[in-house]
Amino acid sequence: MSALDVLELTKDLVRINSVSDRNNAPIADFLEPIFQEHGFATERIVYTDKKGVEKTTLVASKGGGAGGIGFFSHSDTVPGTGWSTDPWTPVVAGDRLIGLGACDMKGPLAATIAAAAPIAADALNKTVFIAVTADEEIGYQGAKEMLARSELLKGAQLAMAIVPEPTSLDPVYAHKGGAGVEVTAHGVAAHTSNDTGISATFLIAPFLNDMAELAMEIKRDTSYHRPEFVPPTPGFNVTINDFGTPGNVTAARTVCTVGFRPMPGDRSDDLLAYIVGKAESYGLEVTSSRSMPGFSTSPDAPVVRAVAAATDRAPRTVSYGTEGSLYAPLYDTVVCGPGSIAQAHTDGEWIEIAQLTEAVEVYTRLIETFCM
Ligand SMILES: [Zn+2]
Repeated sequence: MSALDVLELTKDLVRINSVSDRNNAPIADFLEPIFQEHGFATERIVYTDKKGVEKTTLVASKGGGAGGIGFFSHSDTVPGTGWSTDPWTPVVAGDRLIGLGACDMKGPLAATIAAAAPIAADALNKTVFIAVTADEEIGYQGAKEMLARSELLKGAQLAMAIVPEPTSLDPVYAHKGGAGVEVTAHGVAAHTSNDTGISATFLIAPFLNDMAELAMEIKRDTSYHRPEFVPPTPGFNVTINDFGTPGNVTAARTVCTVGFRPMPGDRSDDLLAYIVGKAESYGLEVTSSRSMPGFSTSPDAPVVRAVAAATDRAPRTVSYGTEGSLYAPLYDTVVCGPGSIAQAHTDGEWIEIAQLTEAVEVYTRLIETFCM
């Protein structure tokens, strides 16, 4: 099997515009033959998103035998508005590759492919699996479709998942999730000169007061904290929106959005129930409620130890979320990828080229450890 150059592959991926709201089939069209030339079986999981746009999650698997390893990346990027240069023209500047998605996460994806591509299928006694999901940045639909429908994934019988999101190649064995409750108050709009209106903002005010008290309690009460995270608190926050109602009109509608970051083993279920209960007690409408858990793999799990050994870095936790939350209930999961999370979603996003080449070595070591 021929080797693939991780830098060139990253550049090729950056050149394909795969902002989340677009049909991302061009990514699959580009990668599928590369996978096939390197001995992978491939499968496309195609679906139509909520806005009616066709999306494709591409998966590839090589070797065979239960207990192998999956590398789960996404192909979509954030919009790239605000760039002063063309986001889809990759530029090498010194030790960096600049381009939209270079770090989050086309570079990391390219590193997994470059690691697995040169290994002959008959050298593998367990499966190596690579996922290229759609819609990660806007709700994980591509990963959910894959988990529900992929025959290749079912057949792979994986034991471990690596999520190559940028962690500067640190092994991340736990991260926070994301939860939110949207509460709406309905009032009656009227000009204050006739004083006949009902302000939705006044209706929602007692609830806001309770949330302000709850915010202080969460900071104070350590039963809401998890010491393995920095910070140990769930980042409880509230925003409100009266849709630009002017000062001489009563608000017809005011929406409060409560958000926090669930941590494994914390009290987020209690919190969610308390918030919803408070809103209902004031006769407010709970317009949506969602909770994505965080994940936690034992720091002593073989995959965590192996990633720590392969990277020569100490396992740690992070406070941002990834699709690892979906994979962790099924596989021992570690988030570990090249590039810094500080670069994700920024204008002028870049990745250090040395991190890309080191990632290829790290993923190669993991495949050798677990699948050969
Ligand atoms: Zn990402």
